[in-house]
Amino acid sequence: MTNTLVAGFSSEFWERAQEGVLVRPVCQSCQKSFFSPQVLCPRCQSDAWEYKESSGTGAVYSFTVIHRPPDIHFPSPLVVADIQLDEGWRMFSWIVGISDSKIELNDRVKVAFINFSGRKLPVFELAKEAI
Ligand SMILES: [Zn+2]
Repeated sequence: MTNTLVAGFSSEFWERAQEGVLVRPVCQSCQKSFFSPQVLCPRCQSDAWEYKESSGTGAVYSFTVIHRPPDIHFPSPLVVADIQLDEGWRMFSWIVGISDSKIELNDRVKVAFINFSGRKLPVFELAKEAI
């Protein structure tokens, strides 16, 4: 798969992110949400899927803390997390605005958007109240 093809699948994801909206692919055949965008639905292999808006709410499935990020442009410490979204899909992202001692598995999170490297990047914050 070429980079051009990959960019084609993800271009709508990034366009909506610039508007502050998180979207994910949803299969029109089996209704499953999945990520990352790919040719066929990983559940039923249908090629009929479309992006739909996500609530942006979910929970921490797993995470790791990088105490020495790759360069000064990254938050430090950098919390890289596997987020379980409420629509039944998962994505890797960052959790911002916390220290590593305050995060636990299954903590509730909500999407936020930060400016990073010239574009808006979807990241997550701990939910301040039960969602
Ligand atoms: Zn499907």
